[in-house]
Amino acid sequence: MTFENNFSFAKQCDDQDPLKEYRSRFNYPSKDGHPYIYFCGNSLGLQPKTTVTEISKELEGWSAMGIKGYFKGDKPWVDYDKNLSASMAEIVGAKTEEVVVMNTLTVNLHFMMVSFYNPSAKRFKILIEADAFPSDRYVVDSQIKLHGFDTSEAIIKLKAREGEECLRVEDVISSIEEHGDEIALVLIGNTNYYTGQYFDMKSIAIAAHAQGCKIGFDCAHGAGNLPLELHDSGVDFAVWCTYKYLNSGPGSIGGCFVHERHLNNPELPKLTGWWGHHRESRFGMREEFDPAPGALSWQVSCPPVLALAGVKASLDIFSEVGIDKLRAKSIKLTGYLEYLLGEVRDERIRIITPKDPQSRGCQLSIKVTDVTKNLYDNLIANGVIVDWREPNVIRIAPAPLYNSFEEVFRFVEILKAQLHCS
Ligand SMILES: *Cc1c(COP(=O)(O)O)cnc(C)c1O
Repeated sequence: MTFENNFSFAKQCDDQDPLKEYRSRFNYPSKDGHPYIYFCGNSLGLQPKTTVTEISKELEGWSAMGIKGYFKGDKPWVDYDKNLSASMAEIVGAKTEEVVVMNTLTVNLHFMMVSFYNPSAKRFKILIEADAFPSDRYVVDSQIKLHGFDTSEAIIKLKAREGEECLRVEDVISSIEEHGDEIALVLIGNTNYYTGQYFDMKSIAIAAHAQGCKIGFDCAHGAGNLPLELHDSGVDFAVWCTYKYLNSGPGSIGGCFVHERHLNNPELPKLTGWWGHHRESRFGMREEFDPAPGALSWQVSCPPVLALAGVKASLDIFSEVGIDKLRAKSIKLTGYLEYLLGEVRDERIRIITPKDPQSRGCQLSIKVTDVTKNLYDNLIANGVIVDWREPNVIRIAPAPLYNSFEEVFRFVEILKAQLHCS
C-alpha cells in the first residue's frame, strides 16, 4: 500500500472505507461542540449508541416484571449471560462452549490460576513478562504466596534484550526450554499493553506444552483488536476485559476461555458457586454441585444483567462487522499512522511497537525524549485523546470501528505543531 501525506488522500481512504458507516454508531466525547480525536480505545472504548437502548430494555423489564424477568420477556435473564458466549467466541476464535462472559479480568485470572497453577516442589515457577500489566503481576505474586512458595524464587521474568524494547519470540521459547521442568505456568499478555507487541500464541503454547507447562494468555489488549484463534492456538486458558476494544462500558464484564480439552474434567481444581451449576437443576437448590457443560461451570454468581446489556450492545456490532474486516481496516489505518509519523522526522519521537503488522494490533507506542509531559497535555488541549504511560511513552490506538484516516492525518498535524512548540 502506498500512502500519501496529504489531507485529500486521507479523505479518499475514508470514502473507500467499507466500514465508514460504523462511525455514526458511536458517541464521541467533545469540547465546545467539537468531537475529540479519540485514540484511547485501548483503555476505554467509545460508547455505542445502542448501549443505552439495551440497558434501558433490561431496566424496563425489571420495572415491569420484577423477579419474573428471569424467565420471561424476549431475553430471559437466566440465559442472558450464556447467550453472549457464541458472539464472544467468534471474536476470540473459540468454540462457544469454551467461552464464558463473567466477572472482571483480574478476578478471572485468579479463577483460572486456581485451575491451572498447581505447583509442586519441583515444578512451581511462573514465567511472565518483566513489564506485564501490574494487576497480572499482583495476581501472580499472591497466588504463589497462597501456595506457600517464595516469590523471589518462583517468578521468572522475561526481559527484552539490552537496547531493545520488545521481547523476541525466540527468547520466550528458549527461556521456556531452559527452565521447562521447573515451570508450572507460562503467563503472557498476548498483546503487550505498553509496547503494543502481539505474540503468536501457537508457537509459544507448543513450546510450553512440550515442557509439560500450562500456558495462559491475558488478551486484554487483543480481544476486539485482532483475530485471536484461541482454540487453534491450543493455550490452556485466556482472560480479557470488554471495556477496551470491546466497547462495553467502564469496568464491564470480562471474558474467559478454557480449552476444550479441559472442559468437563472433574479433576481440575475449581472455585465453584451456584451459577456454575447445571441450569436445569440450579434452582432445585438441594443437589450436590452438578457442573454446567463447558466453560460456564466456572461461573460463580448470578450475573449483573445491566452490565451484560452493555456487552450485548457491543457484541452485536462486532457480529455484524466481523473481526476479519475490522482487522483489514486496522492494518491499513495503523499503517497510515506509522507512515505519517515516519514523515515527521523529529529525533525526539520513536515508535517502539514492532514494524511488522503481524506482530502488532492497532496501537502504536511512541517513546519521546527531551520532551516533557506537556506534550501530552497540549495534545489533549488541542482536541486529541491519547494516553501517556510513565516514564515517557504515548500510546495511540486508532480503533478501526470508529476512527478514520482523516483523524489519523489531523492527529499527526497537531503532533507536529506541538513538537515545534515544546
Ligand atoms: C486492562 C488490563 C487489566 C485490568 O483488569 P481489570 O480486572 O479489568 O481491572 C489487566 N491486565 C491487563 C493486561 C490489562 O490490559
